[in-house]
Amino acid sequence: MAEHTSRQVAQEWDAADPLAGLRDRFVVDDLCYLDGNSLGRLPAATGDHLAALVRDGWGTELVRSWPTWIEWPRRIGDRIASHALGAREGEVIVSDSTSVNLYKLAAAALDARPGRRTILADAEEFPTDRYLLEGLAAQRGHTLRLLPSDLDEGLDQATLTGALTEDVALVVLSAVSYRCGALLDVAAVTAAAHRVGALVLWDLSHAVGSVPLDLTGAGVDLAVGCTYKYLNGGPGAPAFLYVRRESQESLRQPIWGWFGQRDQFGMGAGYDPAPGPERFLVGTPPVLGMAALDPALDVLADAGMDRVREKSLRLGELIIELADAWLVPHGFRLASPRDPGRRGGHVSLHHPEALRISRALVDAGVVGDYRVPDRLRLGPAALYTRYVDVWDAMDRLRDIAERQAWTGVPAERSRVT
Ligand SMILES: *Cc1c(COP(=O)(O)O)cnc(C)c1O
Repeated sequence: MAEHTSRQVAQEWDAADPLAGLRDRFVVDDLCYLDGNSLGRLPAATGDHLAALVRDGWGTELVRSWPTWIEWPRRIGDRIASHALGAREGEVIVSDSTSVNLYKLAAAALDARPGRRTILADAEEFPTDRYLLEGLAAQRGHTLRLLPSDLDEGLDQATLTGALTEDVALVVLSAVSYRCGALLDVAAVTAAAHRVGALVLWDLSHAVGSVPLDLTGAGVDLAVGCTYKYLNGGPGAPAFLYVRRESQESLRQPIWGWFGQRDQFGMGAGYDPAPGPERFLVGTPPVLGMAALDPALDVLADAGMDRVREKSLRLGELIIELADAWLVPHGFRLASPRDPGRRGGHVSLHHPEALRISRALVDAGVVGDYRVPDRLRLGPAALYTRYVDVWDAMDRLRDIAERQAWTGVPAERSRVT
């Protein structure tokens, strides 16, 4: 068997890791947590930050805090823009959930392309995206065309370009696929869609905080994404949306709420959308949830996305190297692109017993997750996952595979996987 990285070498990488010091800025324990792409760890500063806000902002200042809070969707949006998205000021706003933001921006895009009837998306796209587009197409008499894509390799760009016709109004794609982690070329896809006059709406849920993005340079029109995955904003933290500055005036989203109104407290008779990104807001923002993003973004800002990507790729390479050496002989198969340039931050492995294996792994102190069909998804996060965590996780996975330790573990899916 070929030489592979030893635990000692993994420890040496940790000792030399420029991001190693950031791990202490999270609440960590012995758990090998490889699910940072589903729910990021708790930053150590978040608890006190929220406690102070509850005590002083809510407890003492009460409604007098609103002149400050009302700026937060844009202020925190600008922070996400500059630290993680490569976007300009006034282009990103924190609001609602990713699902709702996707609906708002997809509807706005369809309205901006009257006469065109086709929406393109990946047949293996995350379900909420597909369902929302299915609903929009049904409501408007559009055709949702779902492009076939490989479960392990993601969407082939040629499949997409072959489907781009003059009838396409909107293309909705994930920059990083939730299942296999395939990374698309955001700039190339956007340019190809623009050549036929279509708009592109990127879902950045699995890319933001993991892969450096340059929305300005890539000419991106529209984007949405989660803040509770690699941005570590906490369960149900509000999402963000991005609309290119030059396109904002010409786009109207379908949910006309008072937070999108130009003179909100003028309480005027009719809806007149605000000139900036606020026009994509709807109602009162979840202040407590939004506030948790500040300490989380402080850590990301100190890391810098280039260093995050460099470490993230190395963590992924370690998973793949050890999977090849230890797991493939036991019936596992890599279910993600092997080429690091085509992969985001997580790595999936196929095994017919992946569900039961993922449960046996939890019992061994390793949290990854399971995705249909038969995939074990491992999502290290560069800000707090050590190389030795990955090594230990893979070592325990090898032990489970050798002993077939999943026999006896229930095979039924639970409500959450
Ligand atoms: C996680 C994820 C979502 C989640 O949407 P919510 O509205 O926050 O539930 C949406 N799209 C993609 C691609 C995701 O990975």
